[in-house]
Amino acid sequence: MELKLDVPLANELDPDRIPAEAVPENFVSYTLKHQEARPPVTWSNWYREMHWLYLFIFCILPTLALIAAWSTPLRLGTFIWAVIYGYTTALGITAGYHRLWTHRAYKATKGLEYTLAILGAGVVEGSIAWWARAHRAHHRYTDTDLDPYNAHKGLLYSHIGWLIFKPRRRPGPADVSDLRPNPVVIWQHKYYLPLAFIMAIVIPTAVCGYGWGDWRGGFVWASLIRLAVGQHSTFCINSLCHWLGDKPYDDKLTPTDSLFSALLTMGEGYHNYHHQFPMDYRNGYKWYQYDPTKWFLWTCEKLGFATHLKTFSDNEVQKGELTIQLKHLRHKQEALSWPSEKSDLPVITWEDYQRQAESRTLICIAGFVHDISDFFDKHPGGSHLLEKNVGKDATTAFFGGLYDHSHAAHNLLAMKRVGILLGGAPHGSEERVVPPSQHLRITRYGELAGGGYPQ
Ligand SMILES: [Zn+2]
Ligand SMILES: [Zn+2]
Repeated sequence: MELKLDVPLANELDPDRIPAEAVPENFVSYTLKHQEARPPVTWSNWYREMHWLYLFIFCILPTLALIAAWSTPLRLGTFIWAVIYGYTTALGITAGYHRLWTHRAYKATKGLEYTLAILGAGVVEGSIAWWARAHRAHHRYTDTDLDPYNAHKGLLYSHIGWLIFKPRRRPGPADVSDLRPNPVVIWQHKYYLPLAFIMAIVIPTAVCGYGWGDWRGGFVWASLIRLAVGQHSTFCINSLCHWLGDKPYDDKLTPTDSLFSALLTMGEGYHNYHHQFPMDYRNGYKWYQYDPTKWFLWTCEKLGFATHLKTFSDNEVQKGELTIQLKHLRHKQEALSWPSEKSDLPVITWEDYQRQAESRTLICIAGFVHDISDFFDKHPGGSHLLEKNVGKDATTAFFGGLYDHSHAAHNLLAMKRVGILLGGAPHGSEERVVPPSQHLRITRYGELAGGGYPQ
């Protein structure tokens, strides 16, 4: 008998359903303009617009669990078990729901697939089919109103608001055709409720109860508190990982990289990398970055449970990284003061220079006339050396004739430019005209003649 996924995967990307006129206009803005949205949540309709079941699971239940935890002693065995079970079930979400089914970052044996599907049910975040469909829309329409957890709507909204209030819009279309025939996805969706109940409540409680007689502790700590921690740690991927940290690979959108988020989310905190290279089985690209899900998958590969672990081209990853580094350097470059350009300076004759030098402290070096009056007493070699070069061409003296000045001295000298000598620099080569600080500069595309790239 052929299995069929009878789940809300509607709205998957169907090229026939995207109007042709939407493409040139931009699909997101076209959809937002033509698709009807639910009315805004207000004080008069909020109770109708709320997902009461989700409010109970994600807010009320954790609050009740915290109250119960107040009067439930935490035994060492229960604590250790809750931590182990918490990490294990979280892998069902990070390695399974996220990296395997949503992003197809590797191939898993059926055994591993079923294991991850069962473990993932223990965190009670909906079935794989529902979760992966929403997450694919998140990647496809990041930071827009077609992104189900649009980070621009605020930290609280992207964390949990999108769940407890009915969405104002359906998530944008996403292609989930590969999940439709997947027997594990179908099976997990079909038996999701009993699976979630057994994995989230029965097993963690029973282990503590049968293991060391701590039924109450097992229920409160290993089941309910562990569940709340697991759920909110995953929600942090949508909230914190779009808000806290750096953007080392691209700064077009909100996703960020942060060790703190990675510690909370089994390594998913390197979210800036993940949004750039979503099919990479790693979120922590660098070997030392805390990404237990990556280490788990690497181990699964060594044991033969996972194959075809995808990695993105190092060359392209480093290109993205370099682009951001260059942007930072460009900001730094733009924040500094630079010498006047040749074209901004008045051109003066040698005679005029000599005449003006009688009343001003002017020195000519490498074709530029410099006013060094405010530097006269600060010259490390003494003011007498400057004095005897006033009104003369001191190019040779500056570049080694008397003393081979430092790069810093050359950079500072260039800041004193007040004019350019008619006829250029008799002794000056290009290297002497350009201060060392300007030999290498960050230049935007289009700023160089010939389209931006030196020939
Ligand atoms: Zn994201
Ligand atoms: Zn993702």
